[in-house]
Amino acid sequence: MALKENVAQIQQTISQACQSVGRSLESVNVIAVTKTVSSDMARQVVKCGIHHLAENRVDKLLEKQKSLNDCPAITWHLIGNLQRKKVKTIINRIDYFHALDTIHLAEEIQKRATHKINCFVEVNVSEEESKHGIRVEDVVEFITQMEPFDQIEIVGLMTMAPLDASSDEVVTIFETLKQIKEEVAAKKWPFAPCNELSMGMSQDYPIAIQQGATFVRIGTAFFKNNLTINDEGEPA
Ligand SMILES: *Cc1c(COP(=O)(O)O)cnc(C)c1O
Repeated sequence: MALKENVAQIQQTISQACQSVGRSLESVNVIAVTKTVSSDMARQVVKCGIHHLAENRVDKLLEKQKSLNDCPAITWHLIGNLQRKKVKTIINRIDYFHALDTIHLAEEIQKRATHKINCFVEVNVSEEESKHGIRVEDVVEFITQMEPFDQIEIVGLMTMAPLDASSDEVVTIFETLKQIKEEVAAKKWPFAPCNELSMGMSQDYPIAIQQGATFVRIGTAFFKNNLTINDEGEPA
């Protein structure tokens, strides 16, 4: 099985999801989550035309950036929880941070950033104990507290649905995130345009797109089926 086939399958699924709700294909940014694969495999996915890459760990992201530094125009996303002590090593090297969920972290980003950082506020819509993110009822208040931080731009909201959620539950979770996003966007706060929705992973990205996702974060669906790379660094 070749990576190209997985990519084609994902693109077709996205296209169908867009069509089903009358959205344009360009309104959905596809992020390949490369946390389980090598830099060589990440390079292949870029060759297949996917230019958004994400990692959930700082060290892994730095490693991939280093080995792909000859690849033109990659947009880098950090999607995982970020420890405050690691902010200074990563924050100026990424294009989007998807997991802002505490004031302390915002303060550290403000202190270390040398330019405005695009941040998603992570929301724990499903209220799973194990999850990061702020509660739905606290989102607006949290975002008002970002106003003094001129190095932080709240571009949107991010969430994850539980792995065991039914598709009805997933719909409700994504609808809820969209509603809060619209509530924030309607306030027209200059520091929080909040036009983007980062939601949808391999198991639920078609639903996420139907509910308005503008960034989908897909790992497994890209790299499933035991992909291998041959000696020439091409997908086998
Ligand atoms: C791993 C991960 C993904 C991708 O998950 P898949 O199920 O492999 O598509 C998306 N978002 C976050 C935050 C992740 O950690």
